[in-house]
Amino acid sequence: MPFSALVSFPRAARAIPALLGAALSLNLALAVPSSAAPSWNVPEKVSQGHAFVVTGRDSAPFSAEVQWRGKTIPVKAQPMKEAGRWEAAVMLGVPLDEVKKQPLTLRATDSEGETSSRTLTVTPLRVKWIEQQLSVEPKFVTPPPKARKQIEKDRAHTGAVLSAISPVPSWKLPFQRPVRGTVSSSFAGRRVFNGQPRSPHTGTDLRGPTGTPILAVADGVVVLAEAQYYSGNAVFIDHGQGVVSMYGHLSAFAVKKGDKVRRGQVIGKVGATGRVTGPHLHSSLFVQGVAVDIMPLFENRLQVVGGPTPEVKRLPQPAPRKAASAKKAVPAAASAKTDGDAGKK
Ligand SMILES: [Zn+2]
Repeated sequence: MPFSALVSFPRAARAIPALLGAALSLNLALAVPSSAAPSWNVPEKVSQGHAFVVTGRDSAPFSAEVQWRGKTIPVKAQPMKEAGRWEAAVMLGVPLDEVKKQPLTLRATDSEGETSSRTLTVTPLRVKWIEQQLSVEPKFVTPPPKARKQIEKDRAHTGAVLSAISPVPSWKLPFQRPVRGTVSSSFAGRRVFNGQPRSPHTGTDLRGPTGTPILAVADGVVVLAEAQYYSGNAVFIDHGQGVVSMYGHLSAFAVKKGDKVRRGQVIGKVGATGRVTGPHLHSSLFVQGVAVDIMPLFENRLQVVGGPTPEVKRLPQPAPRKAASAKKAVPAAASAKTDGDAGKK
């Protein structure tokens, strides 16, 4: 599907010629005019585990509510550079294991109080995720009983920050890459530790020696900065509308809960805290609580506005790691070169 197809409707003047960063994962897009209002740009198909952006534009201010997967995300149109044009944008996500078509409802209210509503369908495109066989010390696979309390507490804290949907968006695409290092373990890889399958990887591991500064991917507010069992020293930044970036295994924090941060600001340093086999940054993005691949949102991975819609491009996967002999557990130190997460995440 190399090009987007903008379907022409009678009110052609409302059709959007450029697809913004919306077509992150690719696809056909529909410009949907309706009587009272904005024309919406919605991708028809989105790859599993990917974020996508829905935009609405009009010649007057408007507000809207976007309903997606049981969540309602409020959005207010902002004036565009072009005089007399207003745009609202919402980032949404498709879970990495979603196989069913999902309804997407757009309700807009214009400046005169007139409302319009439209429900479209977004179809998930299947992605073949990689599987990694790893052999590690048993303590990395099964947490000791005394860790259970901590794990429960971590889950409660994380769940709370991921379920909040603050109304004002501060995210902007493209995101700042938090460290320059290459990918050592990609998003959604299914890890099998000592033959035991674990949950898919909820983030991307980026290489970086201990002490490397970690940069915030976008403007936002630090909603959590604490030591967790699996993630080690972890920072969560809320970018509004339920878009939250997460940074794990830090050796040091440079921010605390409540801090406002700017895109590119140093929020901590790369480390090997938590359950890891070596220093790296675990970089995650959650969109209304759904983990999505953050890599396509970094610079140089978005299409140029007005340019052709890119095809779905999977990241170059790291060379498959040699699974160590199943009979011989590899001590953490010896497997440090894999610099990945250990255990369930
Ligand atoms: Zn990771």
